[in-house]
Amino acid sequence: MAHITLKDIAHSYTGESDNPYDYALKELNLTWRDGGAYALLGPSGCGKTTLLNIISGLLTPTRGQVLFNDENVTRLPTEQRNIAQIFQFPVIYDTMTVFQNLAFPLKNRGRSKTEIEPRVIELARMLGLEKDLYTKAQHLTADAKQKISLGRGLIRQSVNAILFDEPLTVIDPQMKWELRSQLKYLHKQFGFTMIYVTHDQTEALTFADEVIVMYEGEIVQVGTPEALFERPEHTFVGYFIGSPGMNITPCELQGNRIVIEGHEITLDCTYTDQPSSAKIEVGIRPEYLRLAPPQEKGLPVKIIKIDDIGRHKIARVAVNERIFHVVMPEISAMTGDHASLAFDTAHTNIYVNDHLIAGERP
Ligand code: ADP
Ligand code: MG
Repeated sequence: MAHITLKDIAHSYTGESDNPYDYALKELNLTWRDGGAYALLGPSGCGKTTLLNIISGLLTPTRGQVLFNDENVTRLPTEQRNIAQIFQFPVIYDTMTVFQNLAFPLKNRGRSKTEIEPRVIELARMLGLEKDLYTKAQHLTADAKQKISLGRGLIRQSVNAILFDEPLTVIDPQMKWELRSQLKYLHKQFGFTMIYVTHDQTEALTFADEVIVMYEGEIVQVGTPEALFERPEHTFVGYFIGSPGMNITPCELQGNRIVIEGHEITLDCTYTDQPSSAKIEVGIRPEYLRLAPPQEKGLPVKIIKIDDIGRHKIARVAVNERIFHVVMPEISAMTGDHASLAFDTAHTNIYVNDHLIAGERP
C-alpha cells in the first residue's frame, strides 16, 4: 500500500493550452494518506472521473506528476500501478459463476487454490453473495452484478488503493445504504486506501473520513464532514452540502457589522476592510437561523411557505427579494405572515469573492 501524491496536476483533453477553460482539471495538489477513506464529491462534469483515471493510469495528465510513496508513476500503465477500480456499471464475466468472477483477479496473478477459496467465501459472505456463489452472473439482478464488481475490486489484499467511481448508481435506494455501510466496514477490516467518487452528499458524508469537494475542475475544500458543514471555505461548498444548502446573500461589511437590505446585524468578529470591487456575502446554514415573533430583535421577514418534513420544519422567508431558508424543530405561535429572523452569529460566515475570510475576535 502507498500514500498517493498528486503534484501540480492539470488536465486538458485537447492537450496543452493557454486557455484555462480547456482544462477539465485546473492545477491541483493533494496527498491521499495510506489507508484513508476519502470521498470525491462534486456535481456532474466537475472532473471527478478525470481525476480518478489519472490516479489509476487510464489517463496521463497534461501536466504534473502522480507519486505512489515517492515513486513517480505518471507514465506507468494501469497494470503496473496495482490499483483496483470499480466503475458505475458492473464489469464482470456473465458466463462465469460468482465464485469464478471473484476468484479471477487472484487466479490471474497465479495465487493458489488454498489462498483463493477462503478469501472468496469470506468476501461473498460480507457482500451477501454467498447463496449465489455457484450461480452464473448472467442470472443475477443488476444489484448483485454490481456487488460482484465490488467484490472483484476488494478481493486482492495488496493493492495500493481502491477507486470507486459512482459505484452505487445502479443499486436500489434501499440497498445503497446497506452496501455503503459494508464498504465502510470493509475499509475498517482491510485498511485499504479508498477513494469513493460521488455526486451525492449523503454517500460522501457517510462513507468518508475526509471529503474532497470539487467544482469546475478545482478542489474547493478538503475536510471532515463536520468542517464542510460548519465552515464551508467556498460558497459552493455551503450551497452544495446541506439540505437545503447554506443561505448565501450579498451584504455590506463594516468592521463587525453587516447590513442586509438596510438592516444591521452585529457579528462576533471584526473584519478588515475589503476593496470596493469585492463581492461580499454572508453565509449561514438554515439550522442556525431562527424565526421569532415580529416584535423581537432580528431581520423583519415575510413568511412565504412552511414545509413540514416530519423531523423538522423548513420555512422559506423573504427580506424584500432576498430569500432565506430556516430549519427549526418547531415553528409555533407565529401569527400572520411576518416574523423576525435571528442569526446565530457564532455560525455566521463571511465570503469575499466566494472564499471564506477569517475575522478577529475582540
Ligand atoms: P465527472 O466525473 O465529475 O462527471 P468528468 O471527469 O467525466 O466529470 O468530466 C470533466 C469534464 O471533462 C467535463 O466537462 C467533460 O465533458 C470533459 N470530458 C470528460 N471526458 C472527456 C473526454 N474523453 N474527452 C473530452 N472531454 C471529456
Ligand atoms: Mg464521472
